[in-house]
Amino acid sequence: MSGHRPVPPSAAKGRHFLQIPGPTNVPDRVLRAMAKPVIDHRGPEFAELGRSVLERLKPIFRTKGHVLVFSGSGTSAWEAALVNTLAPSDRVLMVETGQFAVLWREMATRFGLEIDSIPTDWRRGVDPNAVEQRLKQDTRHTIKAVCVVHNETSTGAASRIGLIRKAMDAAKHPALLLIDAVSSLGSIDVRHDEWGVDVSVSCSQKGLMLPPGIGLNAVSEKALAVSKAGGSRRSFLDWQPMLKANADGFFATTPATNLLYALEEALAMFEEEGIDNVYARHDRLAEATRRAVAAWGLENLCLESKDYSSVLTAVLMPDGHNADAFRKLILDRFNMSLGMGLGKITGKVFRIGHIGEMNDLTLAGTLAGIEMGLDIAGIPHQRGGVDAALRYLAETSRPSD
Ligand code: PLP
Repeated sequence: MSGHRPVPPSAAKGRHFLQIPGPTNVPDRVLRAMAKPVIDHRGPEFAELGRSVLERLKPIFRTKGHVLVFSGSGTSAWEAALVNTLAPSDRVLMVETGQFAVLWREMATRFGLEIDSIPTDWRRGVDPNAVEQRLKQDTRHTIKAVCVVHNETSTGAASRIGLIRKAMDAAKHPALLLIDAVSSLGSIDVRHDEWGVDVSVSCSQKGLMLPPGIGLNAVSEKALAVSKAGGSRRSFLDWQPMLKANADGFFATTPATNLLYALEEALAMFEEEGIDNVYARHDRLAEATRRAVAAWGLENLCLESKDYSSVLTAVLMPDGHNADAFRKLILDRFNMSLGMGLGKITGKVFRIGHIGEMNDLTLAGTLAGIEMGLDIAGIPHQRGGVDAALRYLAETSRPSD
């Protein structure tokens, strides 16, 4: 048989492929958990839910300390971290790893903080040596906090927070360490206590596989002491009233009850799979994705293999091709959302999310859609990306002798 038949307009029907690096796909059992009736947020049933989620969040951050849950997105948790620990005109050291680092810095500027910024080319994680050098120069210890984005969702580069802590210790600098764990939490290893992090900022819609709507702060004793003694003017995002209510399983204001049901279910899923298995699953899907990108002859935005992110891969478009036009084609033709380029790399990259409710076949479908899209769009590439990924997935699935 030969001859083309036109693609029917309904070809893109079927389940949407949400392959952006957050919000990620919400598992069906989490969606079902959210459908429970709303309960009295001051009643005994709620206290049980509150205690359960507050306690079971701790292993995800690998902390024994407090985790605070606010209604809001990741931005609210950024803000909570800053206003509870820093006062206007305090100096902070930030590293511009990408667009999210830029946005956090803009927020800090709006709160009247003085910013020392270390630039990067947006193609790698934080250089711990650069942090150490800056801190060593600050002999009078005027820098009050180092703020870094753990997984830069705009570029697909992850920073090694353990090494940044070592750099701070080597510089014998007492600054607080604030990390943005928005897309790293539940996706790649976050070790709040071991790395001596003072505030880990996160939220619901990435590795935790929930809808947007919850902001999180894991806080150290040092951060709590600093916040009790000072910080900026604050109200809704103040840690103290929240911690007071949390002691009995309650919240300072009306919580997003049904998102907490969802959170409880997602935490149960983490417990069943085992957090290290979750990370290993993401690492494997990420490596398969990178092999596909390399086989297509396209470039990973992240240049440093030690900084490769298992959360997402940002793919550079060949010159003269617009990533957003490509994303539109993929959406229209395959009903799949890929992440857009943000800030100064708008139109230059598309981002493939590979975390959360994902397995080999979800990734295979994602990469197949991209490979067909490259073909349809006439974007210069080599065939065989999907094949390279499938071979890696199969090889790593064979039982070992
Ligand atoms: N930080 C990072 C690393 C992010 O990826 C995002 C959002 O994608 C944010 C902060 C901001 O979070 P939100 O959009 O939930 O306010």
